[in-house]
Amino acid sequence: MPTTDYRTRFRIAPGTRVRLRDHDPGYKDRHRSKKEAAPEIERYARRLRELQYLLYAEGRRSLLIVLQALDAGGKDGTIRHVLGYMNPQGCRVHAFKVPTPEEAAHDFLWRVHQAAPRIGEAAIFNRSHYEDVLVTRVHGLVSKSECKARYAHINAFERLLADRATVILKFFLHISAEEQLRRFRKRLDDPKRWWKLSEADFEERRYWDAYQEAYEDALSRCSTEHAPWFVIPADHKWFRNLAVSRIVVETLEALDMSFPPPKVDIEALRARWRELAGKERES
Ligand code: ATP
Ligand code: MG
Repeated sequence: MPTTDYRTRFRIAPGTRVRLRDHDPGYKDRHRSKKEAAPEIERYARRLRELQYLLYAEGRRSLLIVLQALDAGGKDGTIRHVLGYMNPQGCRVHAFKVPTPEEAAHDFLWRVHQAAPRIGEAAIFNRSHYEDVLVTRVHGLVSKSECKARYAHINAFERLLADRATVILKFFLHISAEEQLRRFRKRLDDPKRWWKLSEADFEERRYWDAYQEAYEDALSRCSTEHAPWFVIPADHKWFRNLAVSRIVVETLEALDMSFPPPKVDIEALRARWRELAGKERES
């Protein structure tokens, strides 16, 4: 096994000032290609499945995965990969869109709190409460000082969830401006992807720098011990998938979870079983 875990390598240490240009979106560790990395990707994905089964069986804590990215950053693809290996019974995905009138009539954490995972469950947020300090800030819907207050509310809210045994992992899928353009192009060239295109995505690209800045502030102010942010190099889709699943695996491994003890007397049930099987053989 490699010496530094990804949990450490990609984590924003609490209190650090993030500069996204210091993070290479094209990073792929020692891997040369998707093909070469495939066995490792598969290994972490399988381990993820076992650990989620254990989380569900143990029923003592929950897992919350937050995904944020710019348009075409790969949130959907990440969810497909990570979720593809989980048991749907213990896992839910929530996508947060422009707030409905009902949602907008409440505080910004109201809709998010309702989607928090139940005990034993995993929840994946496709966008999240962070939109309220990102898109809103970029478009001047909230002031800088209001944003500051929101970072504090977010940290307190995540503390509340963590105190109730929620393991929180937040991933920023970091792509380069060139890669975003390439992905837009790919969508334009492929009729099967046309449904994914929106003028808004092209429009938002004009605010690229403002978004980077808003992300830098959110990542700097809201990466905490109980709810760390990770900056994931996401220009290579396969590396992004590997990094996210590996961090989830490393985190769940560290919990040292175990199956709960049986609710029944296993030896007595084994004796019963032998008795039943014997009778059926006789008849
Ligand atoms: P995809 O385009 O891949 O299907 P998406 O997450 O981009 O997924 P859209 O319906 O295209 O989904 O966009 C959702 C929009 O809602 C985004 O532009 C996002 O910024 C916006 N949004 C989400 N939360 C908020 C919020 N709290 N305030 C304002 N806008 C928000
Ligand atoms: Mg979109």
